[in-house]
Amino acid sequence: MKYSGLKVFWEGLTGNKGWKPVWRNPEPKKHYDIIIIGGGGHGLATAYYLSNKFNIHNIAVIEKGWLGSGNVGRNTTIIRSNYLLPENQPFYEFSMKLWENLEQDFNYNAMVSQRGVMNIFHSDPQRDAFVRRGNSMIMSGADAVLLNEKDLKKMTPFLDFDNARFPIKGALWQPRGGSVRHDAVAWGYAKEADAKGVDIIQNCEVTGFLIKNGKCTGVETTKGIIKATKTASCVAGSSSKVMSKAGMRLPIESHVLQAFVSEGLKPVLPGVITFGAGHFYVSQSNKGGLVFGGDIDGYNSYAQRGNLPVVEDVCEGGMAIMPMIGRARLLRIWGGLMDMSMDGSPFIDKTDIKGLFFNGGWCYGGFKATPASGYCYAHLLATGKSHKTAENFLLKRFEKGLIIDEKGQGNQPNLH
Ligand SMILES: Cc1cc2nc3c(=O)[nH]c(=O)nc-3n(C[C@H](O)[C@H](O)[C@H](O)COP(=O)(O)OP(=O)(O)OC[C@H]3O[C@@H](n4cnc5c(N)ncnc54)[C@H](O)[C@@H]3O)c2cc1C
Repeated sequence: MKYSGLKVFWEGLTGNKGWKPVWRNPEPKKHYDIIIIGGGGHGLATAYYLSNKFNIHNIAVIEKGWLGSGNVGRNTTIIRSNYLLPENQPFYEFSMKLWENLEQDFNYNAMVSQRGVMNIFHSDPQRDAFVRRGNSMIMSGADAVLLNEKDLKKMTPFLDFDNARFPIKGALWQPRGGSVRHDAVAWGYAKEADAKGVDIIQNCEVTGFLIKNGKCTGVETTKGIIKATKTASCVAGSSSKVMSKAGMRLPIESHVLQAFVSEGLKPVLPGVITFGAGHFYVSQSNKGGLVFGGDIDGYNSYAQRGNLPVVEDVCEGGMAIMPMIGRARLLRIWGGLMDMSMDGSPFIDKTDIKGLFFNGGWCYGGFKATPASGYCYAHLLATGKSHKTAENFLLKRFEKGLIIDEKGQGNQPNLH
């Protein structure tokens, strides 16, 4: 189905009765060229780019729940390309460029809204660190503006500039950053992948791999055995569990991250704001809710719900920079499963098992990576070679000591 303004107008006049399901519900075939495990943002984006840009159509996406039930429908929707390290920044800028054309590409309204991301700084040394990051962004073709206190005050007069502990001195601003309606991203990719012949098989769990003599020839699922020339895992927070069925132990731990939404308010926030002296970030949804979050819960878990100490910590962070948030009532809280890698950076790589590929380790920043992750994974699966922006996201980097430690926290997954 192609969407157009005229179609939306006509359906509005005729009771919205003409909309049809935008992807099929097929039974699995016996064999595919490529099986993608996981129908989250990254899995569906991979299927979309394989079928739309690399001309491979005999593909299945196998999802244990329904599309959007994982992190792609649970995140706080922020996109940005404001990284420091040369291994990361070009990749996230590539992703930002794909976001900028995504809605035209897949003909779906994903509400890509480039309203800007502001990283607030509270001290002179922190300003220097942000200047360095801004320069790295500009060198990779991204946009970065340093706002002093006066400029920032004009844009966000409600922040607590004179806070005794965390005075606000300015911000590093990326005007092209912003937010995107998260589940619409999954639906848009699913629609176009399905239109190119990709089978999206929901409510089907992968329970094992068919591996013989170091070669993977498919998967065991709750709907039976499905064979494939190439099998590509893309299950985010479930990566360690799924890959353990292939006998692999990953440099990844799973942690919970919570998200919060307030009641709807009139427009107040100009864009995304992040606290520089603690872990708190906030944006405002199109419906008016303040969407915010903070740190991970800090213990290993596969539960998609969090605990109260982090709720308190996030609210304290909010009150420290934006005391008016204390007047808003909280509407909803939920949790998601983070695949935290040891150095905080992801993997898009082959494995030592022939025909088995791995994508994961996105920590809590994988939503913004969705288009580039899908494109680069599709590139690897189609050509056998890493895309130039993802050539450092290799599993072997730990063997060689080539870690990509964006935050400088060392091998502490709960700190990245
Ligand atoms: C609260 C929260 C806030 C976040 N905020 C942001 C943000 O603002 N910006 C940002 O960039 N990132 C953010 N993230 C991170 C981001 O959401 C994730 O990194 C990203 O969505 C992970 O990729 P995905 O969409 O493919 O994952 P998912 O949607 O989780 O997809 C993985 C899929 O694999 C399926 N699966 C698992 N096991 C199996 C199996 N055995 N068989 C078949 N299928 C299986 C799951 O059901 C799931 O649907 C946030 C995450 C959370 C939880």
